Amino acid sequence: VPPSTMRALQASDLAMWQQPRPRVSHKGDYGRALILAGAPGMHGAALLSAGAALRAAPGYVCLCSTDAAVAAALIRHPEVMSTSDHALTAEWLQRASAVLIGPGIGQGELGRERFESWWQDFRTTGRPAVVDADALNVLAQSPRSLSTSVILTPHPTEAARLLGGSTDSIQRDRLAAAHQLAARFGAIIILKGAGTVLAHPDGRAAVCLDGNPGMAVAGMGDVLSGLLVGLLAQTRDAWQCACTAVLVHARTGDWLLSTRGFRNVQPSAMIDHLGAIEVLK
Ligand code: AMP
Ligand code: MG
Repeated sequence: VPPSTMRALQASDLAMWQQPRPRVSHKGDYGRALILAGAPGMHGAALLSAGAALRAAPGYVCLCSTDAAVAAALIRHPEVMSTSDHALTAEWLQRASAVLIGPGIGQGELGRERFESWWQDFRTTGRPAVVDADALNVLAQSPRSLSTSVILTPHPTEAARLLGGSTDSIQRDRLAAAHQLAARFGAIIILKGAGTVLAHPDGRAAVCLDGNPGMAVAGMGDVLSGLLVGLLAQTRDAWQCACTAVLVHARTGDWLLSTRGFRNVQPSAMIDHLGAIEVLK
């Protein structure tokens, strides 16, 4: 693919993030982000994505997770509505503007059950969604065709599972891999890692030149997917939403690096500063 077909993310991709709100508006105007996340041993992933979703400032952030994550979310993020109840989850799902499925759900029974309940809803409503982490591994085991209002966020190993190849082969030509994934699933792809590549089934592609290896720590992807669902709840333009979230995430990582050093580029710290004025100036 000639380089002209892939653009670099740039300042104009922050416009969506920086756009002021109309004075006369209320929470009902800004959508509902619903997060299906967490399993025993991985409760923190649910908390990180819920915290990041808050920074995108949708009208509501709803977290459907484990009892432990719900209890922790109440203390850490009292703004988040949270439940571990299946019936309430089903009710909230029907009212969601966008759904995130995957952070810390695992590939066990709970993860597969959550995936299927999301799939049933998606199949009938086409509700915008972000599919991340173990939900990608479940998807790899039983591929389905999605839509351009769905964003998949694989790291190279998850991408390899989705394409049925090796991580090395993904890394050898990341742009080609992202295009292949977009074509295979009919969804927007964010292929993460140094130089995150974005691809749309219509052929559009972009690369993120920001970000740094301080971000190579567990939990960093949960922050990105939370940010994504928070934005996706507020817009119909899933492609622009993907470009904006990737750039805000990477620039926040770079700000933490330059002000505190790479060992302080931590997911929790990132949530505290995600896309704040001092970070993006
Ligand atoms: P995950 O592997 O799901 O935790 O996601 C890691 C996040 O950190 C993704 O957004 C990656 O793009 C980002 N990241 C990890 N390593 C690097 C790196 N070396 N340079 C830039 N971004 C990175
Ligand atoms: Mg991840």
